[in-house]
Amino acid sequence: NDTCVDYKARIRTIPDYPAQGIMFRDVTTLMSDAEAFAAAIEDLCRPYEAAGIAKVAGIDARGFILGGAMAVRLGAGFLPLRKPGKLPYETWSESYELEYGSDALHMHVDGVSEGEKTVLVDDLIATGGTAEAGVKLLRRGGADIVAAVFLVDLPDLRGANRIRKLGIEVRSLIAFE
Ligand code: 5GP
Repeated sequence: NDTCVDYKARIRTIPDYPAQGIMFRDVTTLMSDAEAFAAAIEDLCRPYEAAGIAKVAGIDARGFILGGAMAVRLGAGFLPLRKPGKLPYETWSESYELEYGSDALHMHVDGVSEGEKTVLVDDLIATGGTAEAGVKLLRRGGADIVAAVFLVDLPDLRGANRIRKLGIEVRSLIAFE
């Protein structure tokens, strides 16, 4: 990364959370470090500073923390993509598969306008199912998705490839193999 902050050292790993065998990458430790959080926002935004981004779409819930800061930095509006039952106005929804069962993301139907340049953000991409649901929602609204960005990629789960196959640039600051 351009700011030379050791992001990996600032992410805490919790074994067997939320289930046996899962190594959970806890980004709250990075976000609570003032220097690392500011650097991460800078590094996530840098390629898009002159891109005329109109909206930053953040995925519930850790994507909100990054997305709000990115939106201010990029001079863009913020758009929340939320879990069911949270948005008050009329929504579109896209469901996606989890290891056990499924979940869904919702977006307000007026969340984006046709052709608006949009960056999608979440803290981490694993299988890419969540991000793909976000892409579908944004495309339904007519957004021009410039990139999907993440603090952390888990490349073994091939989520970034899945999103690239949709024709979208994917960037992440670090990867855990
Ligand atoms: P995917 O849909 O790509 O399989 O899973 C990504 C979603 O699950 C993201 O919304 C992300 O916040 C969450 N997630 C899955 N594993 C982890 C993890 O180890 N750490 C964090 N912070 N989030 C995770």
